[in-house]
Amino acid sequence: MAHAARVRGPVRPPRDATRAGAHPLLRLASGRERSLLHRHPWIFSGAVDSVDGDPAAGATVDVVAADGTWLARAAYSPVSQIRARVWSFDPQARVDESFFVDAIAQACAARSPLLDARHSACRLVHGESDALPGVIADRYGDAVVVQLLSAGADRWRDAIVAALLRATSATCIYERSDADVRVLEGLSPRVGVLAGNRPGHVEIVEDGLAYGIDVERGQKTGFYLDQRANRALVRAHARGRVLNAFCYTGGFSLAALAGGAQSVLSIDSAADALALARDNLARNGSLEARRCEWREADVFEELRALRNRGAQFEIIVLDPPKFAPTAAHAARASRAYKDINLLALKLLAPGGLLVTFSCSGGVDAALFQKIVAGAALDANVRATIVGRLTASADHPVLLSFPEGEYLKGLLVRKT
Ligand code: SAH
Repeated sequence: MAHAARVRGPVRPPRDATRAGAHPLLRLASGRERSLLHRHPWIFSGAVDSVDGDPAAGATVDVVAADGTWLARAAYSPVSQIRARVWSFDPQARVDESFFVDAIAQACAARSPLLDARHSACRLVHGESDALPGVIADRYGDAVVVQLLSAGADRWRDAIVAALLRATSATCIYERSDADVRVLEGLSPRVGVLAGNRPGHVEIVEDGLAYGIDVERGQKTGFYLDQRANRALVRAHARGRVLNAFCYTGGFSLAALAGGAQSVLSIDSAADALALARDNLARNGSLEARRCEWREADVFEELRALRNRGAQFEIIVLDPPKFAPTAAHAARASRAYKDINLLALKLLAPGGLLVTFSCSGGVDAALFQKIVAGAALDANVRATIVGRLTASADHPVLLSFPEGEYLKGLLVRKT
């Protein structure tokens, strides 16, 4: 807990923070300190009055209120709208190699209950929630895949890699910093080995099921670890005919089969994801391949085709990609969510379960529920919410950073 917040209100600057040679000051405009006092870790460009000198991308700055009150130590990002991200609200904290050793050790220790004989993968570091803005690290067996998505994270790459090696004894640390958000930080994409060997063929187990992970070319870091608990839920409820829309490498499909589904139809538009999904099924010899059909198609079109044919399912999973990265895209995204949920509700047999998700930051849980309610109304279906779903426990949400709660889902029963 070396860097953990220990102070509750504004504090006087530490002696060494204001002495010559300490970090440059980023002074907030008058009245803009409120969110920092509430421990929100982002400083938007509009809230900044002035910055001493011209700090480099990722340099550590001390954030002070207009009246000079010390507020936080942060990473400066000269081109991003998020001009600085807080490393610590503790005036004594030093942002150095040992800061990353401590923060990463703490994040990894918190995940240790999630790694056992049945599970060899989980998220180790989840950005702001682990006091490491812009840093993502996912463990896949002996390999760790990192994304460094902010100027501060990028600046401290070597320290982060060293700290991850120390905390995990991984044989490979691979970088997948090819997410679009790096552009907003003025950073170009970076992928490749950071330590150890090339990852090669990575296999993990989740809930006792084996999955191959394409660490170098798969989506995000290779696997949707955030859905672990929800895949277990589908496994627990599995029965009858299951439809898994946006199946990627077949996570929900295998979970449903393992749970006793009679048949599973899985749809995705990405041929390479479906090839891996087929491999994944083959890796698990106990699952009956004949019960599984993989279909390369556009989900919007395929749901219509299934409805026109009068198909019915006992369980439908809808886990689409991010339709609304920000609130500005919410209206268009809402129409897309409504469209697929309406079709899915029609395709459900009476008593069937819809397991429906949104991972859009621009659509919050309340709006998502409204969209699904609208879909039920238009489908002329009576339905109840029997569960509210979120990302798994390795993707914690910092109470002072609700933006971190991007994945929301509903378990809906058609009555
Ligand atoms: N449920 C998955 C993750 C889904 S990610 C898991 O648990 O692993 C979203 C997937 O939707 C991606 O694989 C992407 O290829 C696919 N996709 C995106 N748009 C699509 C569309 N219009 N039709 C079909 N698949 C689509």
